[in-house]
Amino acid sequence: MNDTSSFRLALEHALHHSLTHLENLEQSPVAASASLQTLRERLNRSLNSESMPAEQVIDELVADTAGGIVGSAGGRFFGWVIGGALPAALAADWLTSTWDQNAAAYACGPAAAVIEEVCGTWLKDLLGLPGHASFALTNGCQMAHVTALAAARNALLERADWKVERDGLFGAPKIRILSGDQFHGSITRAARLLGLGTNAVIGLPVNAAGQLAAATLEQALQENSDTLTIVLLQAGDLNIGAYDCFEELIPLAHRYGAWVHVDGAFGLWANASPRHRHLLVGVEHADSWATDGHKWLNVPYDSGFAFVAHPQAHRNAMSYTASYVSTNDQVREQSDWNPEWSRRGRGFAAYAALRQLGRHGVAALIDNCCDGAHRLVTGIAALPGAELVWEPRINQGLVRFLDPKPAATESEHDQWTDAVTSAVLASGVALFSNTTWRGKRCMRVSVCNWQTNAQDVARAVAAVGDALQKKNA
Ligand SMILES: *Cc1c(COP(=O)(O)O)cnc(C)c1O
Repeated sequence: MNDTSSFRLALEHALHHSLTHLENLEQSPVAASASLQTLRERLNRSLNSESMPAEQVIDELVADTAGGIVGSAGGRFFGWVIGGALPAALAADWLTSTWDQNAAAYACGPAAAVIEEVCGTWLKDLLGLPGHASFALTNGCQMAHVTALAAARNALLERADWKVERDGLFGAPKIRILSGDQFHGSITRAARLLGLGTNAVIGLPVNAAGQLAAATLEQALQENSDTLTIVLLQAGDLNIGAYDCFEELIPLAHRYGAWVHVDGAFGLWANASPRHRHLLVGVEHADSWATDGHKWLNVPYDSGFAFVAHPQAHRNAMSYTASYVSTNDQVREQSDWNPEWSRRGRGFAAYAALRQLGRHGVAALIDNCCDGAHRLVTGIAALPGAELVWEPRINQGLVRFLDPKPAATESEHDQWTDAVTSAVLASGVALFSNTTWRGKRCMRVSVCNWQTNAQDVARAVAAVGDALQKKNA
């Protein structure tokens, strides 16, 4: 065995720096404080010719990145849709790197393979998906979409007697994707990667609740009704967390022969909560689903999940062995279901997160984030000069800030909203991102972190109040 002392020193330093980071989250600014220029100056040094002690590399890494690490691990980071990391998941993620298993195949890491089987089973149960569905642990929802939509492409073209994996797409029948127009950008990129093209994605207008109405979908299905069609439904859209009505839309899409894919990057997790499960009634009848572990489940980054109700189509799309050649019936080879070859043993961290929380803990995490979002949005909206734009039904909401000057225009309110959001950011107390929703600039509120508590919410509302007061003064 080699000398492990350099491991010990490097890992001990990493442990120390990790704990310092986590303990300082409470009082450190949530936003980055180092400028782009500073970070480049510190990090972009000429590559050393001689080796360095491992622990020194770690110490300098921490020193040089200081101020360039945002506080997304803490409880007052409400930007985009970004989760934190549960202690067991973080620790398991460290071990994943220590063990350094290649989770491509059972033979390269038997425990990594088995843990993914277990994650698949547990997740289908928690998320209310059919037990026979196949699955893949991907690096995020983007690649979960690619995986699931590759299965859709296989199944739809199979009906036209077209073997897409063998013959490619040149000359193949076209496939279109019909969706409400609030779909995430990862859908168009999946369409690009899969050779369907962005023009294949057709965004249909959504109703006042942000949902795709059955009549709108049916009309689109009737036009060019012999075109092979994927219907993309939303379980929690990125701005307001809107849910399409699965009970109504999935049977409708199926009547027209469409494949139904659900983007549930964070919203599918509502199914783990008895209080919020009603939003997902009927979702189990879709053909495929994509979600994330690194958002609402609070697994460190590099954690997404794809599920497919038609395992053969999934396997045809992803397997590197011909589907009729079985190497070993006893084991599940990850690379039969995943887009990558060599890959991280990312099941360990997801497994650890699920075990730490347990079924009730996952439900409590979802409910706590939803309650936090509701209190934040209504608390901010009650401040003078603020306006409620979307009251959260789950963990997402929108507010807007009104320029106090008499007869201010909408565009002045837009600028004011961005300026208040920036002022909150500059305070360091909380971080929100902004968006344009139905033509208006809004501050977007997203609560995804297991750490967010009532005190974080109160501090964040107070910080917005201070920012408004300063701007109005
Ligand atoms: C975040 C998000 C995605 C993309 O997920 P990644 O994990 O970032 O790849 C897709 N859809 C929605 C609704 C999202 O919020």
